[in-house]
Amino acid sequence: MSTHDKTVLIVGSGIAGSSLAYQLAKRNYQVTLLDENNQDEIEIFKNKAAIISPHFMLNNPKYNSLMNMASKYAYDLTGEFNYSKKDAVMEGVIKLYDNDVADRLIKNILSITLEKTDFKYLSKDLIKKKYDIDNKIGIYFKYGGWVSPHKICSKLIKHKNIKFIPKRKVKEMAYGKKLWLVYCEDSNEFTASNLVFCNSFALSKTKLFNDVDLKKNRGQINWLPSKKKSAHKEIISDSGYLIPDVSGYDVFGSTYERDNENKNLSMTDFEKNLKTYRKLSGNEIEKNDTSNTGWVGWRAVTPDRIPYVGQVLKESKELNKIPRSIKDLKWHPNLFINTGYGSRGYTLAPFISKCLASMIDESQTPDEQNILNYLNPSRNSIKKAGLRKKMLVNLI
Ligand SMILES: Cc1cc2nc3c(=O)[nH]c(=O)nc-3n(C[C@H](O)[C@H](O)[C@H](O)COP(=O)(O)OP(=O)(O)OC[C@H]3O[C@@H](n4cnc5c(N)ncnc54)[C@H](O)[C@@H]3O)c2cc1C
Repeated sequence: MSTHDKTVLIVGSGIAGSSLAYQLAKRNYQVTLLDENNQDEIEIFKNKAAIISPHFMLNNPKYNSLMNMASKYAYDLTGEFNYSKKDAVMEGVIKLYDNDVADRLIKNILSITLEKTDFKYLSKDLIKKKYDIDNKIGIYFKYGGWVSPHKICSKLIKHKNIKFIPKRKVKEMAYGKKLWLVYCEDSNEFTASNLVFCNSFALSKTKLFNDVDLKKNRGQINWLPSKKKSAHKEIISDSGYLIPDVSGYDVFGSTYERDNENKNLSMTDFEKNLKTYRKLSGNEIEKNDTSNTGWVGWRAVTPDRIPYVGQVLKESKELNKIPRSIKDLKWHPNLFINTGYGSRGYTLAPFISKCLASMIDESQTPDEQNILNYLNPSRNSIKKAGLRKKMLVNLI
């Protein structure tokens, strides 16, 4: 057990910041959690329901094994929090695939990574009979469902060791005498021995993180009062998804788009989402029958779709000029980031934040260390310097 000073400042109280606050509070850290907004104003909390579900990449066993552990962890956590049906329903997720993709997925990934009881093959006939969808194989994943983003984050930060301070927009920081000092836009200052940025793509605006390559990916979801025909409880997903009966609403979508700053719900996206809704629910509905009600948001996406979690190098720009040993790399002391969750924050962040909390607490297991080496935010600079392979087998 380490004896270092157990104070931490966390910037951003979405799922990344709230999960980390929870994990560090449990390890007896005094946590100050800052957000530029009140909880009622946090943009991402306007989303009625976030899906928890495993997602796999062909040819990426490390990612697939992480996904498997993370979805189970998020599933168990919602169980522990004992939500009512209006805040979370964990009844599993059915994903639809073409024949050959389903076969490859089962053979190359699921049968190797998952327990037999974690998923179920659903034949074309069964999918047709139950959902009236043609020509698709279904795979049912047990560790899936949806949660209210607002409710899960509020629950995570209800701990005596966490002090949540809204309406504090962090704009700069400095390090001295083994303490981090952050300055907020309203002139307030806070100090702690550890500092973690969990503020999504906004962290690129901070000087020390200019090198962190995060893109904004716009998305829109829609909802309408639940229709009788979509009376099944589980989520169903193809290229888009349908979450049935989120407190009386069917939530469906979602769209993906780069380089679009439009904050308003768009008719084009609404039409795309309605197409998804018609296919997955079987309800014949036209855009004139209902209003374009929903939410627009942005995801923070990394170039390889794998989150950025851990310490950041002090010198990533010069790194490729000086090939050295992995042990010579200089890291910002006690400064961490926890971001780049793309479309999967509610599945991945609770588990990954647990690994990060162990790292901050200097109590990480070899498995947690492997995971964090894989997710390190400076991995691309390290790869360019020819040190990535060493990083994946060595301590950093
Ligand atoms: C349309 C759409 C649908 C989605 N559906 C799902 C889904 O079904 N399941 C899923 O897992 N994910 C979904 N996502 C993605 C999910 O919302 C993200 O993965 C998740 O929000 C990332 O969490 P985060 O904590 O990293 O960032 P955020 O939730 O964005 O939190 C960042 C926080 O930082 C605060 N902040 C920013 N800058 C500062 C500053 N300078 N000072 C202080 N505070 C600051 C913000 O106010 C905010 O509260 C969806 C996204 C979109 C756009």
